[in-house]
Amino acid sequence: MSRIILVTGASSGFGAMIARSLASGDDVVYAGMRHTADRNAQAVTDLAAYAQEHRVHARAIELDVSDQSSVDAAVERIIGEHGRVDVVVHNAGHMTLGPVEAFTVAQLADVYDTNVLSTQRVNRAVLPHMRRRRDGLLVWIGSSSARGGTPPWLGPYFAAKAAEDALAVSIAAEVSRFGIESSIVVPGSFTTGTNHYAHAGHPEDETTAKEYDELYASTMDDLLAKQASLSPEDADPGEVARQVAALVGLPKGQRPFRVYIDPAQDGAEEVFRIGDRIRRDFYRTLGYEELLHPAP
Ligand code: NDP
Repeated sequence: MSRIILVTGASSGFGAMIARSLASGDDVVYAGMRHTADRNAQAVTDLAAYAQEHRVHARAIELDVSDQSSVDAAVERIIGEHGRVDVVVHNAGHMTLGPVEAFTVAQLADVYDTNVLSTQRVNRAVLPHMRRRRDGLLVWIGSSSARGGTPPWLGPYFAAKAAEDALAVSIAAEVSRFGIESSIVVPGSFTTGTNHYAHAGHPEDETTAKEYDELYASTMDDLLAKQASLSPEDADPGEVARQVAALVGLPKGQRPFRVYIDPAQDGAEEVFRIGDRIRRDFYRTLGYEELLHPAP
């Protein structure tokens, strides 16, 4: 049976690649994008051209993850057209660069909104349908930044990705009895090939940011350059999309809880593996090991 798939933040980067990787056979991919009529109109056209050329079912759908009514309208449209959503890929996100103190509280709230609350909006729209059908797959595009080497100057974003990861872990156990499976994809940093770094937000409080410059001048650029240099030159962000497609293609119950794609090897995998082992052991100790896997 064909799968009905929703990818958020699919106007660029990993999301655009994931939408294309997942579009094959009879599967139907809805590529969630905001501003489909203006700023992202070209992305809509590009995807339509790709779908036509490759004879696959991929289409853009207006979906602003910061707006519950936009999320609800997109999910209702998909349910209206197909009666179900089988897979959701939580991909939309936004990063920041600069000293944490120089970001206003409102800016921090915005970063948290785009990376964390966004997933709650989408989940509250799709999970009732998945729970009723006792089936579904949540794929979370997490980040090695939630656990790895975590250099400075990306604090608001790192904190948000860590919060997103914590939500994903808790929700996985809470929906598994409904037959819903969860997987977290953990990319390392890809400084090129997506808009992640190019579109990063910067502190609004420039006075404070300048005071940091006095002691840390050029360290941000230096750290970012050194971080980028850890990745092999041929590090391909398309690998994230291929891994997502491979994951979705696996039979239910056999999907790994985490998938790692980190060319820079910042150490996150090691920490996640320990954390996940401890969580599994703890669930066993409590007698709730079955929550670690979706009910058949
Ligand atoms: P991009 O900036 O290319 O992609 C981010 C996407 O999110 C864009 O399509 C953007 O849309 C979308 N988005 C942001 N806010 C909203 C919103 N309110 N509603 C709908 N869409 C929105 O970067 P990446 O592809 O690199 O990032 C994708 C995901 O991968 C993020 O979750 C990020 O945290 C994660 N990640 C990235 C890494 C990297 O190094 N590149 C490493 C680890 C994780 P728009 O064009 O309209 O702004």
